Amino acid sequence: MIRVSFPDGSVKEHPDGSSPLDVAEAIGPRLAQAALAAQVDGQMWDLTRPLPGDCTLRLLTWKDAEGREVYRHSSTHLMAQAVKALYPQAKLTVGPPLEDRFYYDIDMPPVSDADFEQIEAKMAEFARQDLPIVRQEVSREEAQRLFSDDKYKLEVLADIPVGETVTIYKQGDWFDLCRGPHLPSTGKIKAFKLLSVAGAFWRGDAHNKQLQRLYGTSYPSQKELDEHLKRLEEAKARDHRKLGRELGLFMISPDLVGPGLPLWLPKGAILRGTLESWLKEVQLERGYLPVITPHIAKVDLYKTSGHWYQFRENMFAPMEEEGVEYVLKPVNCPHHIMIYKHEPRSYRDLPLRLAEFGTTYRHEQTGELSGLTRVRGFTVDDSHIFCRPDQLVDEFKKVVALIMFVFDRLGLQDFRARVGLRDPESSKYIGTEEGWKLSTEAILSAVRELGLEHTVAEGEAAMYGPKLDFVVRDALGREWQLGTCQVDYSLPERFELEYTGSDGQKHRPVMIHRAPFGSLERFVGVLIEHFAGAFPLWLSPVQLKVIPIADRHNEHAQYVASELKKAGLRVEVDQDNAKVGAKIAIAESQKVPYMAVVGDKEAESGGVSLRGRGRQDLGALSLEALVEKLRDESAA
Ligand SMILES: [Zn+2]
Ligand SMILES: [Zn+2]
Repeated sequence: MIRVSFPDGSVKEHPDGSSPLDVAEAIGPRLAQAALAAQVDGQMWDLTRPLPGDCTLRLLTWKDAEGREVYRHSSTHLMAQAVKALYPQAKLTVGPPLEDRFYYDIDMPPVSDADFEQIEAKMAEFARQDLPIVRQEVSREEAQRLFSDDKYKLEVLADIPVGETVTIYKQGDWFDLCRGPHLPSTGKIKAFKLLSVAGAFWRGDAHNKQLQRLYGTSYPSQKELDEHLKRLEEAKARDHRKLGRELGLFMISPDLVGPGLPLWLPKGAILRGTLESWLKEVQLERGYLPVITPHIAKVDLYKTSGHWYQFRENMFAPMEEEGVEYVLKPVNCPHHIMIYKHEPRSYRDLPLRLAEFGTTYRHEQTGELSGLTRVRGFTVDDSHIFCRPDQLVDEFKKVVALIMFVFDRLGLQDFRARVGLRDPESSKYIGTEEGWKLSTEAILSAVRELGLEHTVAEGEAAMYGPKLDFVVRDALGREWQLGTCQVDYSLPERFELEYTGSDGQKHRPVMIHRAPFGSLERFVGVLIEHFAGAFPLWLSPVQLKVIPIADRHNEHAQYVASELKKAGLRVEVDQDNAKVGAKIAIAESQKVPYMAVVGDKEAESGGVSLRGRGRQDLGALSLEALVEKLRDESAA
């Protein structure tokens, strides 16, 4: 008999040679049905593979990320098997599972969407046959023989370290070189769909041959697959790159300006400026002081801060001027630290909260860049708070309250807090043990005192200290890391910051780095998708469009617009020589919150006929009533 222990601590005895599937069946048929794979002593394991002896066993289902991964990995095998059946000359390379999809890079003649149906039909055929998926250990020589006609697999094989067991997975008469694990049979894959095809180079190297990267996704039921496909459609419609273009918010000129360097168009600049002015005002009320610093600094500044040593790969290469090296700033902290050092500080001056919408530059791989969410130049709503150690927890709690206030105003109600701690294995951090201990304690006690639900993630800390991140879920349920606040004992040490305490002695302040938006670029990108471009009134670049019915109503339209502008509202008049229905359709497509239609009746009464976004008729309104309505709503 072997002793099998479970994650809950219970232990059961099973006959020698039992598999995880046997164990699941002994527990109950429902679990056996739901199980996809297993973890044995922490190692991924096929359901049908005999257990090695006494062990700990975790059964994985669709609810576990690792279970879904195995499901998608087996789906990519099913797709590869279908492709090989239809295109026998195709050469398979690698096919990993992703978060919610899978792909396989295949050396084959170009395919298109038109070929998907045929491949899917073949996949369905193999799934219906419910072919057992069999793990087989083979010698290296055997594997070389089996894959002798596939140079890619031979390369993959050569990369497997000597001494590691080589395995193949068979289903029907098809097999693949693969570490596994896999589902027990192809029939487990219930619903799947090919999503797209793209060109990809072998090993990501443009000197190599272009392969076909086939993407697909799979779910345990047709219903779940349909829901996922619907979400994908919705996400496509909300894509901020698409909406950014359609709504005239931003552009990117990769050829001349450079990739990852967005240019904000007037409407986007108004949106961003509205966010900036609002947060600046909120911060002034809360005792923040504005500062402005340049975009470059001497390399020496970042040698002192340590960024030059720990963060170099994220920085642009230095430029030389009069024999001195300068870099584009990757972070704003050292500049703000120099402002702190500019004059002697006393305990009475603290906390000192320096704030700047500071633009920073970081080197990101071209392939990683995407719209506003992954860029090379971005502006952080940055602040560095210098405080006494006894003020730290209180100050940290104030920052958390500010971040929650910001999210609330923007209707981002669904978020979670994540405490990012050091990866104990890594050497990418600066600072002392004591500093890390104190700052970690400060964050945890602030979070506790606020009763903030949070998760803890090792390895997510900043270079100089632990942090609290806010991960926001958008309207489609996708998560984005936005606001952040971080505690830092390290940089004050490296820059030898001081203040005079009430005892007349010199002491070292603590720093908090914080940014409620994170980066303006990313934040606006997320907002665009969250609102699907239909921003609340106070953020809308154009809040109201005045639509004259005929030319003779232009004068009244201009009058209405000028009165609304006087009241501080952002208004445009559509004087195009088009039908009123067409003008309304344009305003709707621009997602303008309100339309004021003016014709004979309105010119006579001096008012407007108001329409709301989404084709709502709001009836006749006097100009005064309109101003009041819009003012109330944008202040809300
Ligand atoms: Zn595989
Ligand atoms: Zn900082």
